[in-house]
Amino acid sequence: MKTVVPSPQAGRDQLRHRLHPTGLDIVDVSSEARRLDDFDGHRRVLDVHDASTGLYGFIAIHDITLGPALGGCRMVPYASRAAAITDALRLSRGMTFKAALAGLELGGGKAVLIGNPRTDKTEGLFRSLGAAVDRLGGEYYTGEDAGTSVREIDWVAKETSYVIGTSANGGDPAELTALGVFEGIRAALWHRTGSDQLSGATVAVQGVGHVGYALCQQLTEAGAGLVISDIVGENLSRAVTEFGADVMPPDQIHRAAVDVFAPCALGGVLDDATIPELRCAVVVGSANNQLAREEHGEVLMRRGILFAPDYVANSGGLISVGLGLFGEDPKGEVVREKVRRIGATLTEIFERADEQDAAPSHVADQVAAQRIAARRRQRHRVA
Ligand code: NAD
Repeated sequence: MKTVVPSPQAGRDQLRHRLHPTGLDIVDVSSEARRLDDFDGHRRVLDVHDASTGLYGFIAIHDITLGPALGGCRMVPYASRAAAITDALRLSRGMTFKAALAGLELGGGKAVLIGNPRTDKTEGLFRSLGAAVDRLGGEYYTGEDAGTSVREIDWVAKETSYVIGTSANGGDPAELTALGVFEGIRAALWHRTGSDQLSGATVAVQGVGHVGYALCQQLTEAGAGLVISDIVGENLSRAVTEFGADVMPPDQIHRAAVDVFAPCALGGVLDDATIPELRCAVVVGSANNQLAREEHGEVLMRRGILFAPDYVANSGGLISVGLGLFGEDPKGEVVREKVRRIGATLTEIFERADEQDAAPSHVADQVAAQRIAARRRQRHRVA
């Protein structure tokens, strides 16, 4: 188990030794990233590429105050370099805040790869990524995310031990993520309606992939009715058959008249166009960065819709793999109990938000930033 945060100098020394024989190259592009709106004090951003394997992507390390940066690796056919870096910046910052609010001794990072997950995933490419992660000497741990699966993470693990969620170590944490979202839905309904009973409630689930499917399972067991959408027919028909769910087109599902809208596909779904069309009481889902822009949290609040900050609601997977790094069984009862506490964390955030007449997303950022600042102060006092 490696949980020691390496010194910044150690990280820089590692970067000097580029693996020329395989073509792997790691370049610090923090100054380029600093020009983007979402830079937000990132520790550093690295361009990782290897022409011999087709690896082209970025590792963003936001903060390591609480512990080594942890965050999955996603593969998306980004339209531009700036779009990929921006996604990495937003996601890694979210990981810092997610770990802080989950009470984990971890920081935030993320890897994004530019590519088509249907056609571009080769063992060579992911082993190159593994070699790049290994060069960082434990400053960043990678794992699964959108567009990647346990198979690719196992390839990464052939080159580095700074990896989580391999088949040998718990695999996909989606079921735990779904458990956290489920508890988040109950907390949000309780806060909004005074009842957390799901029997008779309806939930619109956007995206029935790993997390969405597991969430549908838990919601069905609790007696909720489901409306679902997906762009992959196979995923859709499996959920329709197993859960008797109703279906809406992907570009319409946010308009469903339901108690809960659960975005479980990709980010940016709550924006100027969709928010006025929502017909739900609460939004709680697993997708990262559901708000297209930060101020949309406030827009939702003014519309009277309770939004559960995504990085809190979806922290079950991180809790599972994060505690796994510290020796817990990633799917065991200790982990499950901590994941169930996501409901209580959200309740606290909703209550503070009411007191301050602020958006819950704003309050969550505030609490996370306070925790990190407190740790920095503590360090300075000790030093
Ligand atoms: P996944 O790729 O298994 O599932 C996503 C599903 O959404 C797929 O079935 C896909 O076809 C569907 N989809 C894509 N675009 C869509 C659209 N426009 N409308 C409807 N459906 C669409 O991914 P996942 O692991 O289930 O994760 C889902 C989301 O939750 C992602 O944003 C991910 O970053 C986030 N998340 C996942 C975990 C985890 O443990 N897997 C943890 C935290 C956050």
